[in-house]
This record gives sequence, C-alpha cells and structure tokens, in this order.
Amino acid sequence: MSAFVLQVQDLDESGKEWSFAIGTAWLGSVLAETELRPAGHEGTLQVHAQRNGQDILVQGQLTADMLASCARCLGDVAIDVDLPVAALFSPEHARRSSSEEIEVRLDEMNRDYYGGTEIVLDPMVREHLLLEVPMKPLCSEDCEGIAIPAHLRPPDEVFGASAPDPRFAALLKLKRELIKKEE
Ligand SMILES: [Zn+2]
Repeated sequence: MSAFVLQVQDLDESGKEWSFAIGTAWLGSVLAETELRPAGHEGTLQVHAQRNGQDILVQGQLTADMLASCARCLGDVAIDVDLPVAALFSPEHARRSSSEEIEVRLDEMNRDYYGGTEIVLDPMVREHLLLEVPMKPLCSEDCEGIAIPAHLRPPDEVFGASAPDPRFAALLKLKRELIKKEE
C-alpha cells in the first residue's frame, strides 16, 4: 500500500508543504531485496509540491537510517541518509502523447507519472533510497575483517622458517641469534 500520497486537488501553483514519517515497516518492505535493513527508527520525508499546468513538481528532503553489513567483518554499518529528492510528475496521458525528444530531455530530471487524482511518492522515495546502497559497505576504512581465533590460525612455521622470503633471511638470522641468547 502506498504510504506517501498527495491529492492532486490540494495542489496549486504556489505550492504546499507536506511532511511524512517513514515507518520502519515501510522501509523494511522497500529494502527487502537489498543488503540493507531499517535501523529501527522512523525516517522523514518533507516535500514541497507545486502545480505547473498539468505537471506537478515535487522537491524535498528525505532522511532514513538504515543498516548494512560490513563487507569484511559482517558487523553493522550505519547508513544514514539525508538527501534532497525531486521529481516531475506528469499526467498519465502525457506519457503517450509526448514526443521522444521531450522524453529524453526531461528524463535528466527524475520523471514520473500520475493517474487519476493522486500523486504517489513511494516509487520516488524507494528509488532515492536504493541509490544510496553502497557496493561494499565497510564499518571502517581499515576494518581488518573477522578476527581468526588463535586455535584456528596456522602455526607460525607455515609462513616462517620453512620457506623464508630471501629478503627476510637477515631478520630470521637475527631472530635465531636472539633466541639463542635467551637460552
Ligand atoms: Zn568491518
């Protein structure tokens, strides 16, 4: 069900403000097929909508707190979205009559269509949120990944004396001498 709906009859050329809360249930359903999930509190959608002939220009600000999983350690990564949104809604019949040239030009702006008496903002909000999904979320730039427990680590010899890198030969020699001294 659509959560963010404007009634066309409420719109005029000077424009009006709307304010919506973005519920976690709505956010959860939108994010269901992504790597993201709601962080647990409501977001906000504030828009200014204005009629220009048959077109409706919607501009506003969107905030939402989401969680992703770190690509290295699987820990939570907070994705806090606070971004401007904008779309131009044209009546459904304009989709059929407008020439391709106009389509291309207007597509540079987020373009959508409305049928009947309602402007449904849900797809616009969804699209803006999904664009924020990072390819590789990281809890921090220098996350070292999942720590391997000591008993699962290979013994030092695997990387040590058996096949030492020649560049480390001098260091290994020094190490052996130090060990000898300690004995
Ligand atoms: Zn991490």
